[in-house]
Amino acid sequence: MQIPFSGGATLTQPFGANPQNYAQFGLNGHEGLDFIPKDADKKVYAVESGIVREEVDDPVQGKAYGINVVIFVPQNRRLWTYAHLAQNFVNVGDQVLRGQALGVMGSTGNTTGPHLHLGLRMTDANGSPINTGNGFKGFVDAAPVMQLLTGLEQAVLDRANAAKPWMPVNNTAALWRFAQANGLQDQQTDEIPFTYNGAQYIAQVFNKGIVYVKVGDWGNIKFIPK
Ligand SMILES: [Zn+2]
Repeated sequence: MQIPFSGGATLTQPFGANPQNYAQFGLNGHEGLDFIPKDADKKVYAVESGIVREEVDDPVQGKAYGINVVIFVPQNRRLWTYAHLAQNFVNVGDQVLRGQALGVMGSTGNTTGPHLHLGLRMTDANGSPINTGNGFKGFVDAAPVMQLLTGLEQAVLDRANAAKPWMPVNNTAALWRFAQANGLQDQQTDEIPFTYNGAQYIAQVFNKGIVYVKVGDWGNIKFIPK
């Protein structure tokens, strides 16, 4: 699966492009990424797991974005907008997983042709967008984040989401020591072994972040803040 389309996506308009077209909307340029699918599957798949915050089924009510879906990822405070859909499959409050079909690409709202407009905003802990005065109404370039999500970070998040809640841990363990040194507070899971690209990793969830490391590379522990 090559999200946001199953057969791969072509980027047709990057973030910040065409400032002359977007000035009329009070924007410094295109406030998202535009994609079209490379094959006939027009379904749109979630870029990242999260909770449906908003969904609009009426293209008129959705205004410029037409039929659209907004998904909040509490772990990293990212808020994703999927716009100009022909149809959406989800409801507010639904938990969606990365790769789950959210709807069908369309041309509802303010658009000249069928495509997916994907927007990304960063938020506070409650999911309210921050930096809304950045010239893009709080939207930021999602391209670097999407690159990350195709890789190790998403593998760590998937394993953390699937982990059972708290189990006893070995307090002398490297991940625990790292978490304490970085103020990540108490552990919420045991150490979780997993494989990524043929290599062995261990992750562990703490109150303030998810710690992970390649087995054997103990000096290079990393964490994803929560
Ligand atoms: Zn767009």
